[in-house]
Amino acid sequence: MTANILPHCKAFDVHAHFNHGSPFDSPSGTGWAACELNCRDLGWLREQYAYLGILGGGFSTFASVLEHTECIEEENDYLHALAEKDARILQWVVIDPRRPATFRQADRMLASPRCLGIKIHPVYHGYDIEEYADALFSFAAEHKTVMLMHPAKIEKMPYWADRYPEMKLIIAHLGGMEHIDAIRRAKHGNIFTDTSGKASCLNRILEYAAETVGAEKILFGTDDYSCAFQYGRVALSCLPDEDKEKILWGNAQRLFPDALSALPGAED
Ligand SMILES: [Zn+2]
Repeated sequence: MTANILPHCKAFDVHAHFNHGSPFDSPSGTGWAACELNCRDLGWLREQYAYLGILGGGFSTFASVLEHTECIEEENDYLHALAEKDARILQWVVIDPRRPATFRQADRMLASPRCLGIKIHPVYHGYDIEEYADALFSFAAEHKTVMLMHPAKIEKMPYWADRYPEMKLIIAHLGGMEHIDAIRRAKHGNIFTDTSGKASCLNRILEYAAETVGAEKILFGTDDYSCAFQYGRVALSCLPDEDKEKILWGNAQRLFPDALSALPGAED
């Protein structure tokens, strides 16, 4: 069975994670967060993708973006190997700027057509983004790549995006005016956001952002929250169909043309 809200519109999840049995997985919770209620394995995500017509996703493992930074290299290797053999899985290579080995890994993995760009998580990894901004963003610019950043000091990001126009920066989790202002202030138009996370339940946030900075700056993502909710939030929004298409697919295709055209079903 497939949900068919926008039958002519493809979708790609630009921001996804999963647990895979690492000792540093996102902990399975109890009570309201019990794993039966908040399933974090890849099998469930695959079922949801198939049901909603999401052709694939950009992934880093949960373990690689939580506080145990000692596992990042191993997790990057794991995901790199998985992306090589699974056509629906594309990689975000995770860098912790205090771990030089992760820069070397990224240098190698970014050469693969299966790698979308770099993921950073200053908040869970526990560093000050401003302290490492030059190192991170100059590296991204040198590789002319996309960086997916968990939000940190959003108001400072236009400065860095202006300084490194060869980089494209996705500030994840569209959540308020700060995201919208940062996109608007970037002189070279190289700041984007994604819809992933809980804040997209605000009842006009997506519509306001699209009206203000343009739907071309917004990408669909789930962050492994309910795909049905996240997809429905875009597909059933009050936006025109061409904006929904940009958010669900077109913008990602423009940023990652080769990776997305290789997804099964992309050429149908
Ligand atoms: Zn995330």
